[in-house]
Amino acid sequence: MKMGYRIYIFFIAAFMGFSSCESAKEEVNVYSGRHYQADEELFRQFTASTGIEVNLIKGDSDQLINRMLVEGENTPADVFITADVGRLTRAVDEGILSPISDIEILERVPAHLRHPESYWVGLMKRARIVVYHRERVNPTELSTYENLTDKKWQGRLLVRSSQSHYNQSLMASMIAANGADSAELWAAGLVRNMAQSPRGNDRDQVKAIAAGIGDIAIINTYYLGLLLRSSNEEERRIASEMGLFFPNQQGRGAHINVSGLGLSAHAHNEDNAIRLIRFLLQDDSQAYLSASNFEYPVVSSALMPDLLNEWGQFKGDTLNISELGGLLPEAMFIFDRVGWP
Ligand code: FE
Repeated sequence: MKMGYRIYIFFIAAFMGFSSCESAKEEVNVYSGRHYQADEELFRQFTASTGIEVNLIKGDSDQLINRMLVEGENTPADVFITADVGRLTRAVDEGILSPISDIEILERVPAHLRHPESYWVGLMKRARIVVYHRERVNPTELSTYENLTDKKWQGRLLVRSSQSHYNQSLMASMIAANGADSAELWAAGLVRNMAQSPRGNDRDQVKAIAAGIGDIAIINTYYLGLLLRSSNEEERRIASEMGLFFPNQQGRGAHINVSGLGLSAHAHNEDNAIRLIRFLLQDDSQAYLSASNFEYPVVSSALMPDLLNEWGQFKGDTLNISELGGLLPEAMFIFDRVGWP
């Protein structure tokens, strides 16, 4: 009995030795649905300046959420990163995140770009806007998302499938702004005006304009930036034919979405996770990501690349985007009912 007790103590001590050894290694484990070289370069810079190793696991955002669910309390994940508010909402609903209480982090990110209970914060933002062919469309013809249902756009509008999280969040924003009935009429009007049945990604919509299939397309801002600064000459040529239009500038502003991140509910390296999140929200980090990917910084004091400055100031919707998460099921019903594949 006494011997057993001693062995028990030994194991406790050994375990504590092991765990303090583990934390002495100074690491942070990141599960990320973002696939940018720039993110990895920033992680390297973080390691260089703090000595904290960043172990990165990249994957599809939904699969990473599933993995964290299966791993439960034993998940190595300290930080979860994804693009689109829908995935962030799912992560909150599944209980894999815990609120961030670090004031320095919360003060960096505008209130409408983070969860009201701080389960996630925005990392970078993007607007879902209209690109148009500069020779075939006069930008004075453009005004609002609502106006895209006008007959003048019949057979001229390009937009990808409703499987796109970006379109789902856009639809949720239409429901938030105008109500579900009105959003459904809008969606039906858009389907009527489509130049072709939705196919491809945002970049492909721009290429379809260049190919003469349509004249305007709904895409995220950074895809035009990535085409304009592409290493492929043909992509640069295509992009140079396009103009960029921010809708709803007289009203609520252009629809905004975020890449965002949260702290794992079972983070084993919480202090390091907080340090990493603070680092990603520094002006320099934000400016670096913006210059590399053409997303907009969430931190207003961060510098933007020339291209984004050329696109100019615009009004973005200031609705707390976490509210869009709850509207996504309704958005999916609408896509179904109006036959937006
Ligand atoms: Fe994207």
